[in-house]
Amino acid sequence: ALLRLHRHPGALFMNRPNSLEHFWMPFSANRDFKQDPRLIVSAEGMYYTSEDGRQIMDATAGLWCVNAGHRDPRITAALLRQIDSLDYAPSFNFSHPAAFELSARIAAQFPEPMNRVFYTNSGSESVDSALKIALAYHAARKDGTRTRLIGRERGYHGAGFGGISVGGIVRNRMKFGTLLTGVDHLRHTHDLARNAFSRGTPEHGAELADDLERLVALHDASTIAAVIVEPMAGSAGVLLPPKGYLQRLRAICDKYGILLIFDEVITAFGRLGTATAAEYFGVTPDIICCAKGLTSGVIPMGAVVVRDEIYETITGTSETPIELFHGYTYSAHPMATAAALGALDAYEQDDMYGNVSAVALPWEEMLHGLRDCPNVIDIRNLGLVGAIELAPRDGAPGARGTEAMRRAWDLGAMIRVTGDIIALSPPLIIQPDQIAELGELLRQVLSSLR
Ligand code: PLP
Repeated sequence: ALLRLHRHPGALFMNRPNSLEHFWMPFSANRDFKQDPRLIVSAEGMYYTSEDGRQIMDATAGLWCVNAGHRDPRITAALLRQIDSLDYAPSFNFSHPAAFELSARIAAQFPEPMNRVFYTNSGSESVDSALKIALAYHAARKDGTRTRLIGRERGYHGAGFGGISVGGIVRNRMKFGTLLTGVDHLRHTHDLARNAFSRGTPEHGAELADDLERLVALHDASTIAAVIVEPMAGSAGVLLPPKGYLQRLRAICDKYGILLIFDEVITAFGRLGTATAAEYFGVTPDIICCAKGLTSGVIPMGAVVVRDEIYETITGTSETPIELFHGYTYSAHPMATAAALGALDAYEQDDMYGNVSAVALPWEEMLHGLRDCPNVIDIRNLGLVGAIELAPRDGAPGARGTEAMRRAWDLGAMIRVTGDIIALSPPLIIQPDQIAELGELLRQVLSSLR
């Protein structure tokens, strides 16, 4: 190791040679990054500061998570208070008061009767937990043949084995064996031929929900436990639900006794201007997965929120004192709980969800104003989410997207790309002048791509 240190003196870290070599970065082009690193050293509000001292607008709220903006003083203060009193407490048969307070605050924001909160440490764990809770619920009802799980093509549900099994992104699945058995997938809803350049939710495609009827005909409803979808698919490139699609999916689930799980890891806590996408679309699922915005990304934490009946059935019928053999060492970690309470305070005190609704129109206008830029084949928007889909360069899918990400960083914005789709999701505190600033920067980026 020492020899390697001398052979690869990292130019960036004269006093810490070779320090770029050891971190195996997740979902990253490691080799490219290490040639040309993009390092962030501090952040405040809407902006990061890069290692070379530049201000970089955070047009993605980190990874769709820093909803309150960076270093919100209420979250910082809550964390400082917490570390001074209680660093850790387990929640297996013990717990701490703030965990119960937070649960009540979450329940108050989520649609009735979704009042029971199970804690995890990430979106992926929330998905695994939700799938297990769905199976445990049917087992508790003595309906244990319902074990089949239905996801959707192009869905992203995190990186755990449960999540990649119900997920529908081929590269996330293809090298990892047979995955969970007994899983099937609905067709995705992305249809550029019918819906390109829609503003808000697209008009066409509600009938795609009937794909669940096809799977019921194939497998029989008595074998199906749950359907999991993102109400608005983010990570696969911002795929919006056609008008009426989620309502129709809910109706078919009801008809056959199938649980409906919304993966709201991106949408919960204000992304669409409401606490949940369930509220935004007026469709109440049985289980909601969340994470990210729960703590505004400051400390890892996720949660699964379920209808009263699910909790009551599983706990009420249990033959053992412990009703659900599932949980994590860090479920309801006091530091995460403090960060979440601080984030919920910030959202409420500054009406940050309200700001999303207030800026949704300038946001939509800015995005659709880029329609005349070269290579743009679609623009999508909903709440404070946006996507610009670019035509792939001949023979090099994804190359144009990567170039856009690099160019934006050089010009002063962090954007996220999935293949050739640019995804945008700034902190909920963004103001109209910052939207305009981002629009100008994006125009420069798009105009400069090969
Ligand atoms: N589910 C959805 C819808 C997501 O967007 C993500 C992350 O982007 C996850 C699950 C996984 O969350 P995490 O990366 O915290 O495990």
